Amino acid sequence: MSNQLNFFEFQRKFSTDLRCYNYLVKKRWPSGFQCPKCGNTSYSYHSTRKLYQCKSCGYQVSVTAGTIFHKTRTPLRKWFWMIYLITTNKTGVSISYLQRMLNIKSYRTVWTIAHKIFEAMNKRDLLYQLDGIIEMDESYFGSKNVSGKRGRGAGSKSPVIIAVGKKETKDKKIYPTFVKMEVVENVKKETIKEFVKNNILAGNTKIETDKFSSYKWLTENGYEHNAMRIYNPKETLNYLPWVHILIGNAKGILRGIHHGVSSHYLKRYLSEFCYKFNRRFFKQNIFYNLITACVNTSPITFAELKT
Ligand SMILES: [Zn+2]
Repeated sequence: MSNQLNFFEFQRKFSTDLRCYNYLVKKRWPSGFQCPKCGNTSYSYHSTRKLYQCKSCGYQVSVTAGTIFHKTRTPLRKWFWMIYLITTNKTGVSISYLQRMLNIKSYRTVWTIAHKIFEAMNKRDLLYQLDGIIEMDESYFGSKNVSGKRGRGAGSKSPVIIAVGKKETKDKKIYPTFVKMEVVENVKKETIKEFVKNNILAGNTKIETDKFSSYKWLTENGYEHNAMRIYNPKETLNYLPWVHILIGNAKGILRGIHHGVSSHYLKRYLSEFCYKFNRRFFKQNIFYNLITACVNTSPITFAELKT
């Protein structure tokens, strides 16, 4: 898409903190202020403290209260830049790159903002469920300090379940639609069941997997299931191409851009990967849509991000 929000347009629209602030006001209250407590629409505005006060119940609220920007001390312009850089880079950008480009002293501050943005991405994608033809598999993602064994049950690597929806074009080409990746404790039947329940719509769905025993229950539970016997692991690309391409891409980005991430934070980097992949056909809106997602995501603290 050529009409992606470009540098000049971005710079013009969000050149000051005030412009970013006004944009958030528009996103939060598209049809004018509404009191989060009582729903009343008349208010007075305290410009020094940037607070809206409800004329009916007296409740005071800032535009960022209750959003992912809650109580931030970082200028909104830097937040907007970070969201812009994250969404416009195909492969992703490292935290230290963001720190340098945005001239923010503390690595922890940049890390926290980036992870809050990833959290908004995660919350947004949780609203969708896959249907139609779906490829599904699991893979082990290595963490920063671990290397070595591969495959199911390998050491302290993190198991991740991956499901990709796919569609056929008129000229019989298969293309992936939407991807979900979830870091899990294990790949036992109950875990897979929980993942399927949360991420895949029942009925009118066909799930393709390998012959791993954790998938056997699918047929008994109303899912059309195609379990493929894969004799040679090198041939997985012929059977389940998209899950494997996406696993490869995600691992490449984690290694190349983020230089490996600890298993603890893996889920948020995967949220970033999936969110961007899922919107690769909607690049012209990805920046604006992510701002909206940030406005609609509840605050999360540094302590919560660390747990
Ligand atoms: Zn009120």
